[in-house]
Amino acid sequence: SGAPLPDLSALKFGADGLIPVVTQDARTGAVLMQAYADRAALKRTLTTREATYYSRSRGEQWIKGKTSGHTQRIVGVSVDCDGDSVLYRVEQTGAACHTGEYSCFYTPLLEEATPASGLDGTLERVYATITERLATLPEGSYVARLHAGGLDRVLKKISEESGEVLLAAKNNDRAELATEVADLLFHTLFAMAEVGVSPGDVAAVLQMREGKSGLKGPKEAG
Ligand code: AMP
Ligand code: ZN
Ligand code: ZN
Ligand code: ZN
Repeated sequence: SGAPLPDLSALKFGADGLIPVVTQDARTGAVLMQAYADRAALKRTLTTREATYYSRSRGEQWIKGKTSGHTQRIVGVSVDCDGDSVLYRVEQTGAACHTGEYSCFYTPLLEEATPASGLDGTLERVYATITERLATLPEGSYVARLHAGGLDRVLKKISEESGEVLLAAKNNDRAELATEVADLLFHTLFAMAEVGVSPGDVAAVLQMREGKSGLKGPKEAG
């Protein structure tokens, strides 16, 4: 509220008064659903931060989650290059699809040729596992053992793993490099968990730098 509405004049609503909306989980990056908004629904979304659409089948405004409780809290809204579609980035409560599926896009038309690329939330999941183990310290857990050994030992391990990353890269050994980077990331995540820095905290720093080409490296910046 308070803040003025952004200029919507560049948006191309269709002859039916609707614009397609793609909705993405801001936490995971997953595409959750595709629906439509009319001008009023979009304005309501922007002012209330509750994802609001226009239901073509019911012919009325549709506040996502009004009946199911599966609401979408708006994190950000953007418009595509030519102004004919909108992206809602949301924090999803429960399932986005009315079938109970997390995402509407659970029916493949073409099976994935390769496994998902990128880290795809792996760091977040491993971090969550580490914090869970640190809270419960189960017997036989490597994390519990690292914790018992003390942070200094782990910091030394991080330095060792860095050396191994360096060697693998120098040897141009791709398999070895992937393994050593994984070791380095794991022990770094452990240290982060012990100190209370989350992957989100790191992402915030990286995102602040994103798109700033020619940014000075940490050494150069001094
Ligand atoms: P909700 O907004 O989750 O309370 O659901 C209200 C109604 O909107 C449902 O009964 C469905 O008809 C429809 N609906 C909800 N989510 C979706 C979706 N992701 N895709 C298509 N229709 C939906
Ligand atoms: Zn484009
Ligand atoms: Zn477009
Ligand atoms: Zn659905």
